[in-house]
Amino acid sequence: MNAMPTSAAAPVPLQAAAERATAPAPHPAGRAAVVVTARALAARGLVHGRTGNVSLRTGAGTILITPTGADLATVEADDLAVIGADGTHLHGPPPSKEAFLHAAVLRARPDARAVVHTHSPYATAVSCLDGLDPDDVLPALTAYYAMRVGRLPLLPYAAPGDTRLAGAVAEKARTHTALLLRHHGPVVAAPGLDGALDAVEELEQTARIFLLLRGTDHARLTGAQRADLAPRPPRPVALFSALAIKKALDDVVLEGFSSTTGIDVEGVYEPTNVLLRHLESGARPDVMVGVSGALTRLAAAGELAASSLRPLARVGIGVAVPPGAPAVDLSSTDALVRALTSARSVAYSRTGASGVAFAALLDRLGIADEVNSRATVVEKGFTALAVTDGRADLAVQQLSELRFVPDAQVVGPFPEEVQHYTELSVALGTHAVGSPGATALLRHLTAAPARAAYRAAGLEDPRR
Ligand code: ZN
Repeated sequence: MNAMPTSAAAPVPLQAAAERATAPAPHPAGRAAVVVTARALAARGLVHGRTGNVSLRTGAGTILITPTGADLATVEADDLAVIGADGTHLHGPPPSKEAFLHAAVLRARPDARAVVHTHSPYATAVSCLDGLDPDDVLPALTAYYAMRVGRLPLLPYAAPGDTRLAGAVAEKARTHTALLLRHHGPVVAAPGLDGALDAVEELEQTARIFLLLRGTDHARLTGAQRADLAPRPPRPVALFSALAIKKALDDVVLEGFSSTTGIDVEGVYEPTNVLLRHLESGARPDVMVGVSGALTRLAAAGELAASSLRPLARVGIGVAVPPGAPAVDLSSTDALVRALTSARSVAYSRTGASGVAFAALLDRLGIADEVNSRATVVEKGFTALAVTDGRADLAVQQLSELRFVPDAQVVGPFPEEVQHYTELSVALGTHAVGSPGATALLRHLTAAPARAAYRAAGLEDPRR
């Protein structure tokens, strides 16, 4: 990123205004995950025409849902409707006519985030048969059906959009992963979208097998075999993370992870040295993100799994100015020196990694006395607060931390020749090797969408 020229003085904070104008719809990662699921339903032939719908409860308690009349093969993230927990339309396009069913299921299942409804042909064919057991429509023919679906109740016929169905649906949803609507199709709820997709597909395949086996001699799983395989909720993952990527994790990365997998993340966010003290007191995170040197030492000591250790991102030091202030020139070391020595007061942190590096740089540049004589030295926390409350007119800190203060105007990074990078790595706790949830989170944190979120939060890709 290039520094803005000094002539870019503007009456409003340019960056803040630009961000507001292009502000993405809320819950971008949840929206993306709903679209992936909708496309997968279409690609697997589980929905046809403009049938089927997908919903996702967000961390804010609202529900993202595919809109009315949508073709799930082509639906886009911005097309999704937002409804409240009671099913009322809040914003975006009108929701699916069946939104009330999704809301009823999600109210009945506080442990579930995702609901999928289809008119898939084999399950719908079964819903039209006579002589079904309304409490257990499909026999447990395979282990995966017992694991992913369990027991399937049949709900009486109601015309599409008939909200009188909501009460009966809620009652059955409380204790069942999936329901079958008579002459209509299945409704499936799960902790995450992947689980809902797997369950609705398993249900469809089992309905097909059931129809193939009609009138033949065949065996079913026993009650004991079924009980052994009943669906179990996923265990939460304990994450320790340095502050530098907290914004990216909060805004995008963890929402994407939990929406898809249904796994909750219990996060502890502190500077790396504070996290190290928690470890000394016996804390055992499943996944840890921190300054690379510290993680390498923890891996050598056997606390983290050395084979899982990998670089995540690096972050340099930058400068922020008050809202509406002219940007400063950071295009060269000379320009930086001019900006620092002409500032009324420069805010920097006494204890943070960037503050220590910056104090050493002031010495090296021979301007320590001049800058320090009127500096605003903050003990800890976000230095950009000092340019929003008037204590300073220049704030110096890691770029990711400057971006935590939305009103401050981030000008850009230090010139490369005096830049100081902090590299972050990620690793599994030794005890968490082989844990599916921890392994999935490690993979998610290092995948391309997460790396894009780190870049958007002011970090760079690690040096290879
Ligand atoms: Zn329907």
